[in-house]
Amino acid sequence: MNYRGSCHCGQVAYEVEGEIGEVMACNCSMCQRKGALLWFVPRGKLRLLTRPEAMGTYTFNKHVIKHHFCRNCGIHAFGEATGPDGQAMAAVNARCIEGIDLDSLRVKPFNGRAM
Ligand SMILES: [Zn+2]
Repeated sequence: MNYRGSCHCGQVAYEVEGEIGEVMACNCSMCQRKGALLWFVPRGKLRLLTRPEAMGTYTFNKHVIKHHFCRNCGIHAFGEATGPDGQAMAAVNARCIEGIDLDSLRVKPFNGRAM
C-alpha cells in the first residue's frame, strides 16, 4: 500500500510504501512533547516529494536520530535513524499520513527514556 504524508503547510511531503500495523508511542523527552505516533519503515520505502532544504533537522542525546521538521510550519512529519542491524530507517509520523484511521492502529508504548 502506498501512503502519502505531509507537514501542515505541505512544504514537506512524501510517499511511503508498506503496511501500517503497529505504531510506537515513545516517552522520551522529545517524543513526549511532540506526540508523534511513529511507524518505522526501511528508509528506501520513503520517497521525499519536496525539497530537502524545506526541512530543519534536530538531534539530541546520542544524535543517532534525525528529527526533521518543516522550517515553515514546524510539523515533524518523519525522522531518520539507523536500526539496530545497521539498516537506514525512516520513522514516519502516522499522524501526518493522509486518509488513515488513527484509532484503528495498534499503539505500542516504547520506553525511550531508558535509552
Ligand atoms: Zn510545513
